Parts: sequence; C-alpha cells; structure tokens
Amino acid sequence: MSRVAIVTGAARGIGAATARRLATDGFAVAVVDLAEDAGQPVVDEIRAAGGEALAVGADVSDEAAVATAVDRVAAELGAPVVLVNNAGVIRDNLLFKMTADDWDTVLRVHLRGTFLMSRAVQKHMVEAGWGRIVNLSSTSALGNRGQVNYSAAKAGMQGFTKTLAIELGRFGVTANAIAPGFIETDMTAATAARVGVPFDEFTAAAAKEIPVGRTGKPEDIANAVAFFVSEASGFVSGQVLYVAGGPKA
Ligand code: NAP
Repeated sequence: MSRVAIVTGAARGIGAATARRLATDGFAVAVVDLAEDAGQPVVDEIRAAGGEALAVGADVSDEAAVATAVDRVAAELGAPVVLVNNAGVIRDNLLFKMTADDWDTVLRVHLRGTFLMSRAVQKHMVEAGWGRIVNLSSTSALGNRGQVNYSAAKAGMQGFTKTLAIELGRFGVTANAIAPGFIETDMTAATAARVGVPFDEFTAAAAKEIPVGRTGKPEDIANAVAFFVSEASGFVSGQVLYVAGGPKA
C-alpha cells in the first residue's frame, strides 16, 4: 500500500507541483485547498498518470475544518504520514500602512494553519512510528520590504519546524523547512501586478539578482520536498534549506 501524503494549498503553484511529484514518487496524495473543486484538476491529472489522489476542501486555519479534513484523508486514502504545509497568502504593505486584519490573515494561514495541520497529522505519524513534515518558509524570513507580516510568519515557521524536530524525532518523525526564493507562481504574479510591472519583466529583473541566473519553478521546490519526505533523509531534521538559486534572497 502507498504511503499517504497531505499537501496543503495544492490546487496550484508550488503545492500542485509537489502533489504531482509525490504521486510520481509513489505516495497517495491528498490535495488540500480552500475549495475541494479547486484541487480536483490536480487530482484528475495525478489519476490520469496512474497515481492515487483525493481532493479535500479545508481552510487550514480553521480548527474544525482541519480535524474533518484529516479524518477524511485517513478514512478514504489511509493514515497520513507525510505532511507538506504549503498553503499561503500574502497581504503586503509597508508597516505604517498595514492593517491589523492583513497582519492577522497572514499569521493565521501560515502559522496557525501549520500548527493545526501538524497537530492533527502527527497522531497518525506517531502511531506509524514514521513520518515526514515539510514546512514552506521563505527567503522573506530574512526580512523583506513590505512583508513584515509574511516575514514574521515565515521566520516563525522555522522555529516551529525546529521544535517539531526535537519533539517528534523519537517517534521516527522528521521535520524540515524549505525557504524558496523567487518562484514563478500566481503569488509572485500578484506581486508583479501590485507594483505595476509585467510579469516577464518582473522575473527578468529578479533573475539578474539570482546567482544561477534564473528564477525558480514550482518543480524546483517539489524536488527539495521529494528529498525531505524520502527514506533517505531520515537523519536530516530541524533544518532549513534555502532553495533560491543562491545563498540568500
Ligand atoms: P499560490 O500560487 O498563491 O498558491 C497558494 C495556495 O494556497 C492556493 O491554492 C490557495 O488557495 C491556498 N490557500 C490559501 N489560503 C489557504 C487556506 N487558509 N487553507 C488552504 N489553502 C489555502 O502560492 P505559491 O507561490 O505556490 O506558494 C506556496 C507556498 O510557498 C506558500 O506558503 C508561500 O508563502 C511559499 N513561498 C512562495 C514563494 C514564491 O516565490 N512563489 C517564495 C517563498 C515561499 P486559493 O487559490 O483559494 O487562495
């Protein structure tokens, strides 16, 4: 039987690429996103390629919805032993213009969502004596103008990851974080739109600042996730891997 993985925010972008990759690697994948319908195309694609997947609608920051979603995955796919906390939102603004709602929304989805999902899924991992948790941080954790909420959340996820590694290691569970740099997704397209620059110009300008000379693709992050959830990474825990085409943002 396939090991079961949950990927949050998996309807598009990095989450969708990760769901596809884990399915290719033999996991049965729960594609969790706000709306079940939104995740269905990714599920259909995985199934068409011979994989196993299930679309589940849940807001990761809603405690009851998380409990229901994880129970459904366990009942319909099997007990989840891999969790990729990828769901995310941005509400960028300079500090003096940032509303408390924009602060709360970003911290709720990234930090509370990651906490609720991890708490719900660890039970299955501990029972199995094996598990892998991968949290999506960001180079913005190092500081990024206009993202005081997001950078605080993404730095918080690094501390959360290290503590999970300490608490869950004895149960065969590892926890690691990936901090992507510039990845071409709807999220970075939204940033380009906000600053009024066409996306191709925006990525070209970003690529000039990146040592490897290009911006990232969702598959670049999925490749790193594939390592962290593999058998081979069992002695790697509590780490933050910057996947940014260079050493920093
Ligand atoms: P994306 O294209 O905006 O996709 C994010 C997904 O998360 C969307 O499908 C979104 O659903 C879903 N989502 C949002 N809030 C949710 C919630 N409360 N519960 C469940 N699902 C929710 O983003 P991405 O660029 O792929 O980013 C994925 C992750 O990588 C995020 O954590 C992001 O912060 C991180 N990251 C991205 C970059 C980058 O350059 N793109 C860099 C560093 C880190 P809706 O479509 O319904 O909103």
